[in-house]
Amino acid sequence: TPIQPPGKTEKVWVGVRIRPLLPQEKDAKETVAWTATSQGTLTCLTEEKNVYQQSSYQYDKVFGESTSSEEVYAAAAQPMVRSAMKGYNCTLFAYGQTGSGKTTTMRSVMQHAAKDVFEYIARSRDREFVLKMCAIEVYNEVVHDLFVDVDTSLKISDDKDRGPIVVDLTEQSIESEEHLRKMLKAVESRRQVRETKMNQKSSRSHLVVRLYVESRPAPISGEEEDDDLMSDDSSACGERSSLRGCDGLKAQAPVLSTINFVDLAGSERLSQAGMVDDMDREKLRQKEASNINVSLLTLGKVIRALGKRGEHVPYRESNLTRILQPSLSGNSRMAIVCTLSPASGSVDNSRAALHFANHAK
Ligand code: ADP
Ligand code: MG
Repeated sequence: TPIQPPGKTEKVWVGVRIRPLLPQEKDAKETVAWTATSQGTLTCLTEEKNVYQQSSYQYDKVFGESTSSEEVYAAAAQPMVRSAMKGYNCTLFAYGQTGSGKTTTMRSVMQHAAKDVFEYIARSRDREFVLKMCAIEVYNEVVHDLFVDVDTSLKISDDKDRGPIVVDLTEQSIESEEHLRKMLKAVESRRQVRETKMNQKSSRSHLVVRLYVESRPAPISGEEEDDDLMSDDSSACGERSSLRGCDGLKAQAPVLSTINFVDLAGSERLSQAGMVDDMDREKLRQKEASNINVSLLTLGKVIRALGKRGEHVPYRESNLTRILQPSLSGNSRMAIVCTLSPASGSVDNSRAALHFANHAK
């Protein structure tokens, strides 16, 4: 059976990405309330006393509105993707209110990751890789497989060795970068179909795209040391010296890891969730909102508990965290990109999202 290098959860990397003001926001006379300063700190222009420049609100990176997707990938995801290729479980979250740029950010990050993963595999001549993918939607605590069209909900069961697993979830083998891109597109369009069918529910659902990376020594070892790979190894392990287990790749047994890309449900409160025209819809929305809060609330608790030694981690309190449990526990890395709308009308939601991100650290 595949082994996992031993280790512990690293401190969470937290970045903030501010998107540009959208044309419709300009039309609605919204103004820019949030910007990134040239020093890389976050500024709220509508506040007299700027708490976001104080040390209590320090993020690993603040991406201003003109940041390219390459820059976001390089800072937020690439180090994790590289670690995952070496056997660490990695999870990247996009957190923020609906319309703040979560899906845009995750989509581009996954595209860059697809390229990076296969470049890494091509360079690693001394190892053989097997790649699989699955895609899960959690809506109202109900779990769906985004590789199938039938609308069945999946159960989560507790496997004695592997922890919680989603029963009957499709695991799609991935053959190439092109194949991975195609599958990502298929997942996205299936999510959109479901969204249309279920009345714009994507802002209420969580999407988990998971890559399984399994590697083992190649039967015939390479003739020469790969300089590129070696220097890459030392930088990734050096800067993260507390991450033990880089030796995992020297193991003869297969090494298995997962990379999770999580596009979370909108973090806004019910009052902002949209117009409600009758009582049933109102009830539905309240149910939705409370379930989302359970998942997001639990996620926050789980992340904070992981940062403290010996703390009980309440994975079981929501399905999202149960699904992520095998990836978050043990030898893992986590990053959160908190996406922000710059609009003056969204300051309260933005502040709430920043509060979440800040407490994850
Ligand atoms: P969310 O998934 O958080 O609801 P989306 O990713 O769908 O948000 O983005 C909402 C809108 O903002 C979309 O029209 C999208 O094109 C635009 N947008 C998001 N991020 C950016 C960005 N970095 N640059 C320009 N437009 C963006
Ligand atoms: Mg979205």
